[in-house]
Amino acid sequence: MALRGDANDHWSPLQGSEQAVALEVLRRGPIARVDLARRLGLSSGSLTRLTKPLIENGLLVEGAAQPIPLGRPTLPLDVKVRSALFIGVKLVADAAYLVVTDLRANILDQGFLGLSRRDPEAVAAALAEQIECLRSRHEGIAAVGVSLGARVRNHEFVIEGRYLGWGEVPFAAMLNKRCHLPVALDNDVQALTQSELWFGVGRGLERFAVVTLGAGIGCGVVVGGELLPLPAGDITHVIVDPDARETCSRGHRGCAEALLLAERVLQRAREAVGDPALSFDEMLARALEIPAVVERAAYDTGVLIAHVANLLAPEKVVLLGEGVGFAALFEQAMRRGANALRGEFLPETHIEIPPFEFYEWARGAAVVAVQGHVLGAWSNSGGPAR
Ligand SMILES: [Zn+2]
Repeated sequence: MALRGDANDHWSPLQGSEQAVALEVLRRGPIARVDLARRLGLSSGSLTRLTKPLIENGLLVEGAAQPIPLGRPTLPLDVKVRSALFIGVKLVADAAYLVVTDLRANILDQGFLGLSRRDPEAVAAALAEQIECLRSRHEGIAAVGVSLGARVRNHEFVIEGRYLGWGEVPFAAMLNKRCHLPVALDNDVQALTQSELWFGVGRGLERFAVVTLGAGIGCGVVVGGELLPLPAGDITHVIVDPDARETCSRGHRGCAEALLLAERVLQRAREAVGDPALSFDEMLARALEIPAVVERAAYDTGVLIAHVANLLAPEKVVLLGEGVGFAALFEQAMRRGANALRGEFLPETHIEIPPFEFYEWARGAAVVAVQGHVLGAWSNSGGPAR
């Protein structure tokens, strides 16, 4: 199905080999023609035939000439990244974080919206106003992506939004009706993983996982260069420490939720320092005073990653989210945890903790919009059709 709304752009009619060429240049460009032809299994003649109309209609551009040792210099191909802009929205219980991005999800602008009401109609109305405000500052917004900590169907319906207290809500249609732009929804961890796969640290990888820690615990899994649709990757209740005292909302002793949810770690830190108002950042600043809380959380994060790595044997595990600060701070402890449970034949897991700001979630949502825009269609499996 198409994005909710009417797309008016020059990506939509692309099909087959033309689409494959454009996507490859978007994801890997600037790219030399010879590399592009090799990656797509095309002869140089076919590639010239396919790229000619794409260059003529302004979708692709030729970069500066690259000298090569023998023969004529070649012109690498790239997309015109500002040919279309996108709005990404991360919805949480009481606020929305918005970004404006280009075709490669580079953030150009951002916005914040406090939400006093949570019912879907009120949220859609408030968001539409904020989107209008961003549109008045940026020409050429082509689509909107919205991500949230919920299950989503067909990029159209929120079917279980616990943080917002929503049941089944046709939120894409509700927002489209008000802002008259194509709207696509996705689960927030799935969107963030897509963003890493297309434009981030997962670019070019066949097998990797994104593990997120924060208000929830999430895992996006990429196998064969494709994101597995939900419900794959639910690691919330993986047992991390069977000897722990802490139990989760479902009564498990020492599962990931019990030990690694940001608010749970913070609660233990507050008890340890005797300050009920301690913030997450203050906890990190005072981490050396309370290693039993903070260093332990880092170790446990490593154990959780080991469970993921043992199943997947990934090229990389990327740790993201607003609640990963303790793992970055006690990286050695995290690696000890990851090694303690590492499978016998598994090489040491490559764990990456890129800098994370909350707006990264909104950037993930923008990638959902970019994908809808450039692919022009969605599969029913929770991921864009390819
Ligand atoms: Zn549990």
